Amino acid sequence: MNTSKGDYIIFLYVGIDDTDSEDGMCTTYLATTIINKLKENKINITGFPRLIRLNPFARFKTRGNGAISFKIAISNNHYIDLVKKIVLSNVENLSMTDCENTNPGVVFYQGKINKRMENYSLKVIHSIITIEEAEEFANEIGAEIHKFKKGRGIIGSLAAIGCQLKDHTYELIAYRIKENHGTKRAIDCNSVILMNKKTYPKTFENIDNDYIAIEPKTLCPVLYGIRGESSEILKVAKDILNVDEPIDCFTIFKTNQHTDMHLKKIDRIDKMEKYGSYIVNGMVVDSPHVITGGHVFFRLSDDFGEIEAAAYEPTKGFRKIINKLIKGDQVQLFGGVGCGGTFNIEKIRILSLNKKQIFKNPKCICGKTMTSAGFKKGFKCRKCGFKLPDGEKIAIVEDRELVENSYYETPTSARRHLSKPLIRINK
Ligand code: ATP
Repeated sequence: MNTSKGDYIIFLYVGIDDTDSEDGMCTTYLATTIINKLKENKINITGFPRLIRLNPFARFKTRGNGAISFKIAISNNHYIDLVKKIVLSNVENLSMTDCENTNPGVVFYQGKINKRMENYSLKVIHSIITIEEAEEFANEIGAEIHKFKKGRGIIGSLAAIGCQLKDHTYELIAYRIKENHGTKRAIDCNSVILMNKKTYPKTFENIDNDYIAIEPKTLCPVLYGIRGESSEILKVAKDILNVDEPIDCFTIFKTNQHTDMHLKKIDRIDKMEKYGSYIVNGMVVDSPHVITGGHVFFRLSDDFGEIEAAAYEPTKGFRKIINKLIKGDQVQLFGGVGCGGTFNIEKIRILSLNKKQIFKNPKCICGKTMTSAGFKKGFKCRKCGFKLPDGEKIAIVEDRELVENSYYETPTSARRHLSKPLIRINK
């Protein structure tokens, strides 16, 4: 691109992934540190940095399988070297590389984002790929990769650069000062409730009954993360919150969180693959059953196959909805196939409900419910002695508590980062 001064503008994309461990750090914090260092050197990124959530079933993820990318417009080659130096030195120095499973990867890419890169990103969201595949693809598109240890992070870094956001949300992440990392977070819960009251549904995933969803429960440097539809509403929400500890800094990320980007609509159950996430229709084969631990299971079928579907214990009240299904109900499931081959339900839409019949003993002419008179002997009344030797049980159609064409979803506390909450469903 040519500027009015005649300089040539180069777009440099930076992707970073796999820098943290359960003992600390967060790739969003590392990216924030880098962006602030770039600013100190008078280099600003273009637009928002992006937090891209990838396949929720990726084996080596620390928590939410997120990778970061940002874009810089540069008119001088000298700055390209400086950007690379700042990015690489910070990833090298701040990543939790002592942890066996932390294998950082950084990708630099100059040029236009093309369809192949977009498709690669979708592949990383929908399936599992190898480091070699990612490396081969980087070579094909002329991206520069930097691997630390095994360098698994290049898989996510490349995907974060190429991902196209047809739908998106934002997350404002506030970070704690170093001295407080690992200590209890001092967030005023009442202020979170007030913030939710004033900004929901433009912000969402804030609270779940008594559970403060904006507060992570891990050792990472994040104080809180507020999710919402625009950067403006996130700043309003931040100003409502009261915290009793200093905030080191905050960053607003543009993200694919809560967009259902991981779900592929599929027309046959047998086409679903392990580690893929889908929207699929089918019929309930058997009434759901609960196993030890409180997990609820049932089987779903169509003309081509059958799969076990589950609402696990952390989905709390959602399990009660699933338990109300009966054989013959037609439903649409949203969710993914885990390592055991079970479909993990995130949302359900009731397409049609089967009639639920129960059979009751007949009522006597005196009004009392009759009891059995013995095998094949009909019914008798304990009150007045009346007998019905040929009587049969009466079929009664019970009201169903589920509603056709309605959607039901897992609660905020159990929601996947990529899962679109119903409050966003018409967007
Ligand atoms: P956090 O959310 O706390 O930043 P995380 O949950 O994102 O951490 P990472 O530490 O980034 O986890 O580790 C995930 C690893 O899995 C990265 O190396 C990433 O490149 C890789 N990965 C992501 N998606 C896939 C995929 N579809 N197939 C194979 N590997 C993947």
